Amino acid sequence: MAIEQCEILILGGGPVGLSTAAELAWRGRKPVMIDDTNGVVDHPRAGGIGIRTMEHFRRWGISDEIRNCGFNLDLPLNQRFCTGVVGLELGVARYPSMRETTPLPTTPEMIARCRQMWLDPILAKTARALGADLRHRKRLERFEQDEEGVTCDILDLDSGERSQIRAQYMIACDGVNSGVRKTLGIEMQGEVLGNTVSVLFRSNIRELAPEPSERFIVINQEGVYGNITAMDGYDLYRFIMRGPNEFTMEGFDAEQAIRKAINAPDADVEVISVRPWRRSQLLADTYRVGRVFLAGDAVHVMVPTGGFGANTGIGDAVDLGWKLDAVLSGWGGSHLLDSYFTERHPAAARSINAALVNFKGWTPTSGLSLLYDESEAGAKARVKIGRELVDATAKEWDSSGVSLGYAYGGSPIVVDDGSTPPPDDPGFYVQTARPGHRAPHVWLDEGQSTIDLFGRGFLLLRFDGDDPAEAKALLDAATARGVPLALKDIRNEAARKAYERRLCLVRPDGHVAWRGDALPEPGSLLDTITGA
Ligand SMILES: Cc1cc2nc3c(=O)[nH]c(=O)nc-3n(C[C@H](O)[C@H](O)[C@H](O)COP(=O)(O)OP(=O)(O)OC[C@H]3O[C@@H](n4cnc5c(N)ncnc54)[C@H](O)[C@@H]3O)c2cc1C
Repeated sequence: MAIEQCEILILGGGPVGLSTAAELAWRGRKPVMIDDTNGVVDHPRAGGIGIRTMEHFRRWGISDEIRNCGFNLDLPLNQRFCTGVVGLELGVARYPSMRETTPLPTTPEMIARCRQMWLDPILAKTARALGADLRHRKRLERFEQDEEGVTCDILDLDSGERSQIRAQYMIACDGVNSGVRKTLGIEMQGEVLGNTVSVLFRSNIRELAPEPSERFIVINQEGVYGNITAMDGYDLYRFIMRGPNEFTMEGFDAEQAIRKAINAPDADVEVISVRPWRRSQLLADTYRVGRVFLAGDAVHVMVPTGGFGANTGIGDAVDLGWKLDAVLSGWGGSHLLDSYFTERHPAAARSINAALVNFKGWTPTSGLSLLYDESEAGAKARVKIGRELVDATAKEWDSSGVSLGYAYGGSPIVVDDGSTPPPDDPGFYVQTARPGHRAPHVWLDEGQSTIDLFGRGFLLLRFDGDDPAEAKALLDAATARGVPLALKDIRNEAARKAYERRLCLVRPDGHVAWRGDALPEPGSLLDTITGA
């Protein structure tokens, strides 16, 4: 049997595998992706797209398409705490609709609602258009690696035929039950918090609810009963049972559970699909064994409160993408690929922690005995519970710090400048050009952000000075090593202030590698930032 050869085999066609394919293809590589599904998402999980992910999508040219995916742009994104969709109001965190949302001053993009039934096909179409080879209904049965590559045995699920692919590298984005992770013997640290269930359904909730909302978080006297989330903003919803951790499917009546949460006898409820799932927070000990890398849920799993799972995995894809491209192009150093774990493992730990804080915030601490009480004391208790829940969950809805504020300060391929990092607040992003952080956004011209300059290679920004000789030694040294590096002079006072130094060297993923007022010796700088 002839063995097909490829540079990179991506395993798994979820949001992370597809993003890895898009990122690598955007860089001119021709990855092959295999996935055992037919590519159609019939029960969406991810769907809250974070700002940083939207910035990556902007680079691939799809942020507008993601925003206009089909979600009702006029639905206010209110988060309503109540005893039922039709029930007593406890508190409401009010947010504008997608159409009325405007970007924060620190980014050209904003959050989006693009549920997976739209997200995955858009990512697949994008990856294909960029040159990735995506193959569905193919299953990886086994693999083995040696010093030169990874040999994968593939089963075609339709024809039953078996084939082999030999790749220089494999990236396993095969989800929470990753077979690759298990085969490699990689341990996960953390805990399983409980079993639960997700139900997709159609309903006329929009006609019944006292005010339009994206989410109804239903509280009863035992605590949080569950939540109903608008999936398309019209009539498609998802119910997630919060309930006891020891939930089992035995005797579970999805329609009845949803009716209890809606609390209106005349509600239309059409159950589409029911999926049990496990709420856990787990983080792998390593993201790489030899020529096999892992990304996404295969190495980090978090509770979905906040919607950080796929966003964190897409961050992995972007970090690994430019590094693998650099190594395959010949300019990436021998330590560059190791920095993938050094940089992304703490980023995942940070998301996991933020998600857990959000999860705990959903739990009312007192007053539940008066929840349905019609007296003045009951009304006061409800207001108090509502206020407590709205305050405790504020960082779940305003999570710009989680999305934009992760940084690679301790990375071996970043040159620390000794400056103090800004506070790491999940709910508030402070922009900084400190090495390791995301390079700041400043509008340069209408529609053009500083972050639109980044991506293809390293970029040296110069805010003050125009002497062509100044960067010549660095540019020449980079050319001699084949490192893609360009110089960009920026005459913009706001940008100069945001970057705080005369010179700033930005990596292909838009993070700062080095900054200063005078360039250091080029050889050692290039050695460090390329992982030589
Ligand atoms: C209720 C809920 C809501 C969520 N909401 C959000 C949100 O709003 N935002 C967010 O960012 N995240 C959210 N998440 C998390 C998000 O869904 C996951 O983090 C994300 O789907 C992980 O993507 P992935 O590509 O790593 O893995 P997966 O999506 O699990 O994809 C893995 C793919 O690999 C395939 N595969 C596995 N083994 C093989 C094999 N041997 N051969 C071939 N193919 C294989 C699988 O079939 C699958 O298609 C939510 C999760 C839940 C449960």
